[in-house]
Amino acid sequence: MAEVEKQDRRVDSVELVKTYLEDETYSDALLVQSEILRLSREFLAEKGFVEILPVIVSTITDPLNHDVFEAQIDYYGNKYYVTKSMILQKQVSVLIHDKIFSFSPNLRLETAEKYSSGRHLIDFVQLDIEAKETKREEIMDLMEDLIIYVLKGILTKYSGIIEKYHPNLTVPKKPFQKISVKKAKELYGDDYEKILSERAEGPVWLIDIPLLNREFYDKQDMDNPDVLLDFDLIYPEGHGEGISGGEREHEYEQIVKRIKLKGNGLESYEDYLKLAKEGLLKHSAGCGIGIERFTKYILDLDHVEKSRLFAKAPGKYTI
Ligand code: ASP
Ligand code: MG
Repeated sequence: MAEVEKQDRRVDSVELVKTYLEDETYSDALLVQSEILRLSREFLAEKGFVEILPVIVSTITDPLNHDVFEAQIDYYGNKYYVTKSMILQKQVSVLIHDKIFSFSPNLRLETAEKYSSGRHLIDFVQLDIEAKETKREEIMDLMEDLIIYVLKGILTKYSGIIEKYHPNLTVPKKPFQKISVKKAKELYGDDYEKILSERAEGPVWLIDIPLLNREFYDKQDMDNPDVLLDFDLIYPEGHGEGISGGEREHEYEQIVKRIKLKGNGLESYEDYLKLAKEGLLKHSAGCGIGIERFTKYILDLDHVEKSRLFAKAPGKYTI
């Protein structure tokens, strides 16, 4: 990425802590968020998923589909990347246990203008899920059940809080609506994601994302090679994207082809490629659901920085 001017949008720490004490949004959001974590764990454990610990630094991380500043650590002359997503680690973990999840901190050094989206943090946590020999539809079905389970639990336990922030919140019915990116573009033009989110009655799956719009690891649909076997979940009421996921590429030749198609060099993916070449990657599917965005949607917050303590919003500098 291009060099940028230094910005010093430092958040005063005393002011910040006073805001935490005075604005009860924070204490309410923390109660709801703690319950999101508890209910998600309970739900996934009951479905036979094993929780694994997150990985903070690695020789490999998610390339992402958009530009962020690189976050690297020099360790005895070798380079560690700070995790943008633990995609490779998920693919390896399902070799040991078929179904895994992790509450994974991700660092994505977004550019300052992303602040205005209201839904980007540079340091956030996603609930990362992966299952071996699984179809994307099974993961979508699982996530519908998870969202319904969490919403029901929160509406029961914290009805007063929901009444205060999001009185019209309802538990969505299965199956959630699905729309391909092609169809969404025909209906709403290039700004389809935003318009879809503003008009949707409930969460909507955006499926069949075009080949180059996502990372190399989402599986190409061989019956329709212009698109991927993947998905995003779009929250209603303008809250935008909350989940990304899909089936994964696991074959060496296909991974090489896809990395090259994205215009990337193979050097940064050495470990990924070595594992694939050994046949150590298997077919799997999974997704990540952002915890702070989930909280924002449940509480109808205007900015994701209100969904947690010590939020790092793009362009800001804070404790
Ligand atoms: N790696 C994706 C992301 O972080 C999530 C997933 O596909 O599992 O957006
Ligand atoms: Mg995403």
